[in-house]
Amino acid sequence: MAAHIIDGKAVSLKIREEAKQRAAVLREKGTIPCLAVVLAGEDPASLSYVKGKSKALAEAGMEGRDIRLSAAVTETELLALIAGLNNDEKVHGILVQLPLPRHIDENKVITAIDPAKDVDGFHPVSVGNMILGRPGFLPCTPHGVLVLLREIKIPLSGAHTVMVGRSNIVGTPLANLLTRRDVNATVTVCHTGTKDLIRHTLQADILIAAAGKPALIKPEMVKPGAVVIDVGVNRVPDNSAKNGYRLCGDVDPAATEKAGYITPVPGGVGPMTIAMLLYNVIQAAEAKV
Ligand code: NAP
Repeated sequence: MAAHIIDGKAVSLKIREEAKQRAAVLREKGTIPCLAVVLAGEDPASLSYVKGKSKALAEAGMEGRDIRLSAAVTETELLALIAGLNNDEKVHGILVQLPLPRHIDENKVITAIDPAKDVDGFHPVSVGNMILGRPGFLPCTPHGVLVLLREIKIPLSGAHTVMVGRSNIVGTPLANLLTRRDVNATVTVCHTGTKDLIRHTLQADILIAAAGKPALIKPEMVKPGAVVIDVGVNRVPDNSAKNGYRLCGDVDPAATEKAGYITPVPGGVGPMTIAMLLYNVIQAAEAKV
């Protein structure tokens, strides 16, 4: 039997609606929740992410302050810009779109953001708070996956979760969130050093792919009935498509026949990332009122 498709778009719309209502309450009190979005360069994928974020902010009644910089911007100039945004009381959140041009040290830039405005949740202070289970901003994509898993109401406590990928923005924080006591899953983290990946994936009650490799997870790697979360967003060349590419996840769509639940690409995890960003901006703005 084909898997139940997890509708990330529908879940994300509920969260965006809640954010909109909370933004309206803030506006009544004279505060317009504002996110500064900094983009250096013209990377097409980054441009499209930034546009999506601005649109979502506007729809939720928040301000998106778009700051476009040339790819030649210096690290010193970028750090000075961040310092200005840190001191700007009208700005509640700062997001620097990654990747940055290669001559700029991403870690330095992320660390320069005031942790109170770190709505991406990438600052070492936010990461530390997450690991210690203290209040703070959770990174948007891992948080979005957690919300999706809660939404389908499968038992997470004790579930064996296999995470394919250990990046700082997805795999590692998500593995951490899932092992928190209030979630209580057991997590195996796989990466390029993992031997015999299929041996691990076949044991997963919940299989999460965040490897950035199109269709890495084949149907034979999925335990029948498992929950499969596909974080991957890969552009693969497609001459039949208008823009010359199509989006493809890290999971082979044929795995739908094996899984119990599965997220589509697009329309699964992607919309959740933006929704959780709005959630964090509201959290940042409410903390200042
Ligand atoms: P990343 O930084 O490239 O990390 C990929 C991770 O996957 C690494 O830990 C890597 O292992 C592991 N990996 C790669 N190939 C593997 C293989 N064959 N077997 C096992 N592990 C493998 O990528 P990322 O930033 O986490 O993003 C992952 C994917 O999610 C990308 O497609 C990205 O576009 C997508 N993404 C989507 C959203 C969204 O909103 N939907 C948000 C963020 C990212 P090593 O550590 O050993 O190199």
